[in-house]
Amino acid sequence: MYTFKDATKEDVDNVMQKAWSAFESYRSFSIKQRAAFMHAIANELTSHASALIPIAMAETHLSESRLQSELTRTVFQLNSYADACEQGNWLDVRIDKVISDRQRPRPDLRKMLIPLGPVIVFGSSNFPFAYSTAGGDTACALAAGCPVIVKAHPAHAQTSEEAASCILKAAKICRMPEGIFTHVHGVSFEVGKELVLHPLTKAVGFTGSLSGGKALFDLATQRKDPIPVFAEMGSINPVYLLPEKLSESALDQAKTYAASINLSVGQFCTNPGLIIGIDGPDLQTFIKNLGEEIKKVSPSPMLHAGIAKSFIANRSKALAQNDVHTVAVSDTRPGENESYPTIASATAQAFMNNPVLHQEVFGPYSLVIKCRDVAEMKSVAEKMEGQLTSTLIATENDIQQNLSLVDKIKDRCGRIILNGVPTGVEVCLSMQHGGPYPATTDSRFTSVGADGIKRFARPVCYQNWPDNLLPDELKDGNPLKIWRTVNNQLTRD
Ligand code: NAP
Repeated sequence: MYTFKDATKEDVDNVMQKAWSAFESYRSFSIKQRAAFMHAIANELTSHASALIPIAMAETHLSESRLQSELTRTVFQLNSYADACEQGNWLDVRIDKVISDRQRPRPDLRKMLIPLGPVIVFGSSNFPFAYSTAGGDTACALAAGCPVIVKAHPAHAQTSEEAASCILKAAKICRMPEGIFTHVHGVSFEVGKELVLHPLTKAVGFTGSLSGGKALFDLATQRKDPIPVFAEMGSINPVYLLPEKLSESALDQAKTYAASINLSVGQFCTNPGLIIGIDGPDLQTFIKNLGEEIKKVSPSPMLHAGIAKSFIANRSKALAQNDVHTVAVSDTRPGENESYPTIASATAQAFMNNPVLHQEVFGPYSLVIKCRDVAEMKSVAEKMEGQLTSTLIATENDIQQNLSLVDKIKDRCGRIILNGVPTGVEVCLSMQHGGPYPATTDSRFTSVGADGIKRFARPVCYQNWPDNLLPDELKDGNPLKIWRTVNNQLTRD
């Protein structure tokens, strides 16, 4: 039962004042100290796993094994971002030393990233650990040198409370300033609004729906001093089936995609919601077998009643559109708040002329688009909105024959996958989790991988400062031994 009280306007002001005074000291904590704090949070989460998992199971209906692996991933995120924080590559240090014997002498110029200030984090309902209270946004903001204020997701408020107490315990152990991390509750949108509009808020990290992310982005840009909102939102993750590969593997692809569509009851931002192929016997085989697989999947409880209600409403709306045909639904009828695994199909023309078919149906649902030929597939790719991922099921020959299609697909996504599934997002430096709008509000950044730290920092250039007054990161002797670009050469000297 939800028992938390919404934070008031006064509570929000109090929290932000404390976060600001924490920022005044935390901003100059060394990258080693910040990393130690993050490792301490990871340790606390690990040692509280037996309390965290059952609470999250009760609140989200996700399985024990799914939550256990999500918690392991969250701990890994914190530890690996802590290592990256200390390694210091994210600071993007550039040093151009003075040239005094030039006709117009060059001053001494040294640039690095510095923290933005207090960051508000909104987590999503489908990742109670990895994209929530102690998740990637919190880890990145702390690494950058920013205090964090988390607005707990009401769908897993108790899990959030438990994770917050791990962070606060780690803060105490590491002697962090009061206000370095705060956890506030709010069922009403007013709480989020107050947090985003508060003058001491300097950035926002959001994971969730397009409507939520866009609403918060609009609020932030309408402020007297607009602030960045890094919103990671919904995506339909198109999968393009190219002819040669499809003819080789239609049956295998159907099995693989049925599993991907149903992974975690379809409640992944990388769920393959759209599959595009060229009409003919191979696509028919694929559709028939995908349908057969889907019929075998039993409905399961969704994260919460609101998500289940939206799934049923969005699915019904999509299926009611002109020229959309239901291919298959689960043989078992769903119970209350359960999913209803579904595959539908439509022509490319129907898809291109109807914006409703471009919208995410969050849950186990996928629409197969039948194109006349590759030219029509290219037109579909051109009409596609920004996506987190796009996938090509293709042979090398398929790719070489269709390079301009590949370019169009690449223009509209952050990660382009070859012969795989979009579900499963590796946490590493080369990962890009973010794509053109509406997938995210700023496609230049990622929310997964240590490059995500850069979202909460900005460059500042020191001109003509004596060595003893410079931050350690920029000093001549490189006391932190970090990689820096000095006079255009990457070096640790
Ligand atoms: P959500 O309903 O947008 O909720 C996210 C958070 O934002 C909640 O704390 C919510 O508070 C708050 N919020 C939403 N609308 C708001 C508004 N207008 N004003 C102030 N606060 C607002 O999203 P969700 O249901 O948790 O998550 C499902 C969605 O997340 C799916 O669309 C999925 O694709 C997407 N997702 C994206 C990624 C990614 O990386 N791109 C990852 C995971 C999930 P309330 O609950 O109080 O409304």
